[in-house]
Amino acid sequence: MDAHELSGREKALLTHETLNQTYKRLTLDNSRRTPMHELISTMLSHRTTHADEVMAYNTMLERFGDWEGVMQADTAEMADAIKTTRYPDQKVPQIQETLRIIKEERGEIEIEFLRDIPVADAMAWLTKLPGVGPKTATLLLLFNFKKPVLPVDTHVFRVSQRVGIIGAKVTANKAHDLLLQMLPPDPEELFNFHKHLFWHGQRICTWYTPKCEECVLNSFCNYYQDVRAKGIDKKAA
Ligand code: SF4
Repeated sequence: MDAHELSGREKALLTHETLNQTYKRLTLDNSRRTPMHELISTMLSHRTTHADEVMAYNTMLERFGDWEGVMQADTAEMADAIKTTRYPDQKVPQIQETLRIIKEERGEIEIEFLRDIPVADAMAWLTKLPGVGPKTATLLLLFNFKKPVLPVDTHVFRVSQRVGIIGAKVTANKAHDLLLQMLPPDPEELFNFHKHLFWHGQRICTWYTPKCEECVLNSFCNYYQDVRAKGIDKKAA
């Protein structure tokens, strides 16, 4: 099969179907974390391992008690509480300002109202918060409220570009909408697409040495056909 003969949409659906057969199908369980927990944890997780993010989150709440306490905490003490994350000095003002905006606009530090408003309005409201981009907003809306959106993290983005679902010049932020338009508008399907590409990016389509020869997507992957198969990829050699 010539990988370039398929459209992006055809590749998106073929990738989804293939990875559904390769990896375990998951059920979207939105009781995992509260929406506020998801929001602040995702902000803490930027360039940070899951274990370090969890440690920072727990330390922060143990030290300052609740969201009011976190919002009013001394910035140096707060930075110390989340020091297991990367860039704590940048994250402190973003988190505290986010909490202030939520309190000011909603009268309490709670975001359950997002469940009942249109997706576009929820996306617009979330992405105006400091430090909240499309990835954080879509993670929260899909994982907590089962809204039909697609989070695009570094793994989803890399695999989608290499396969040729999206073009090489598409930005990560733009990829959220482009990929969403190609997939079934069903939260369970979007959740599985997200998780499966995430796992595939972590295990097979890794950044430096993608394991193309054992990859179930290689028969329609642009990267494999254009670069690896010709043996001209110095980085992956
Ligand atoms: S064939 Fe290689 S580049 Fe393409 S998706 Fe698989 S591992 Fe990634």
